[in-house]
Amino acid sequence: MMSNTVNSRISGFHKMTPAERLATVQRAVGLDGASVEQLGKPGSLDLHTADHMIENVISSISIPIGIATNVKVDGRDVLVPMATEESSVVAAVCNSARQCYDSGGFITSMSGTLMIAQIQLVGVSDPKAARIRILEQRDKIEEVCNGCDPMLVRLGGGFRDLEVRVIEAEGGPMVITHIIVDTRDAMGANTVNTMAERLAPSIAEWTGGKVYLRILSNLADRRLARARATWTLDAIGGEAVRDGMISAYRFAAADPYRAATHNKGIMNGVSAIVLATGNDTRAVEAGAHSFAARSGRYTSLSTYEVDADGSLVGTLEMPMPVGLVGGATKVHPSAQAALKIMGVATASELARIIAAVGLAQNFGALKALATVGIQQGHMALHAHNVAMVVGAVGDEVQRLAKILVEKRQVRQDVAAEELARLRGEG
Ligand code: NAD
Repeated sequence: MMSNTVNSRISGFHKMTPAERLATVQRAVGLDGASVEQLGKPGSLDLHTADHMIENVISSISIPIGIATNVKVDGRDVLVPMATEESSVVAAVCNSARQCYDSGGFITSMSGTLMIAQIQLVGVSDPKAARIRILEQRDKIEEVCNGCDPMLVRLGGGFRDLEVRVIEAEGGPMVITHIIVDTRDAMGANTVNTMAERLAPSIAEWTGGKVYLRILSNLADRRLARARATWTLDAIGGEAVRDGMISAYRFAAADPYRAATHNKGIMNGVSAIVLATGNDTRAVEAGAHSFAARSGRYTSLSTYEVDADGSLVGTLEMPMPVGLVGGATKVHPSAQAALKIMGVATASELARIIAAVGLAQNFGALKALATVGIQQGHMALHAHNVAMVVGAVGDEVQRLAKILVEKRQVRQDVAAEELARLRGEG
């Protein structure tokens, strides 16, 4: 760690412009000129917009956007923008999607666009009766929720359902109200949070208890996106590959240690589109992992089976709370452009494409793992990163990466030696 003489108490920091904040940070930590110049460069997100998105902005970071090709979703070809810093992710989707393109691509569906908000009630001596008292107020609750967002109601969304549960918690029972709201093309966090806050005083009044938390649940299990695809034996390279992949899936289904990595692979595809479209990656990730643990034991989000023709059938089902309005989706110009590339008109269409790509990503990782291993494909691209880290420029990057892969030593020390050798030869 650098010497710790920085004073983090900077008065009025939030009132400065991004340039003033950057200069202040430079002075505060003694940042070198090259770093300041780097952070001061205009990216694809202008600083004015960035400054309105989050607090204390000094710069923005660019992440590569790659296009996944060969993707066919419900009979429609789509080019999918993916924002990721990880090599091999985009290539894996292109390869996996190509292998199921002729057998129909991805078939997708969606359970709906319902989000859940929770209201926590404590301190009632008769929690079971309190639950019933809340359920009795369904019409009133619907009126309050819909009154919060007439625009959403006009668009066909709004309050849909009510659930009240008594949960046993440390310190006594809690009465947890779920309001279930169709948020249409919005992810809906702000929408349902506003409703929960508006409703909370009435819930306290009806029950005599005390309300604490009023916020959405990221376990969006009423907003599930589903994808399915079939890979023929010819397309994947025979029975041995198929059976290896089935065995890899069964490993993930049975073991949380493996399931975590299996699902991380799915999220490589999912989060890349969520990010490229300005949606909330953490919301989708929290939903994915909590859904994967819904039985009480963390398991695979996807399944693989052999169909009657001997082909491999993969499925993915997971919460997909993404929107086309709200959050950064409307504000970030690159997010808007990404949505245009995909040509989606509704949040559900976007969610379904994301599920398809998550399944493609998963297939790619399983196939690599069950055959040549992940490193062969991964390292070829990773070698480019390592080459750049040791200072390769221009066509040196490609040449050095090739040498590292051939030597099967994609390491920085080897890369530095080989770069020196290359330059010596040149
Ligand atoms: P929002 O409130 O900005 O937009 C939603 C509103 O837009 C709706 O309530 C509706 O009035 C209007 N609208 C216009 N056209 C619409 C359409 N076609 N369909 C639906 N609504 C339409 O945003 P939001 O989606 O409610 O909230 C998303 C943001 O909330 C994200 O930035 C997320 O990061 C953030 N957030 C997340 C969490 C969490 O996940 N735990 C918590 C708080 C906030």
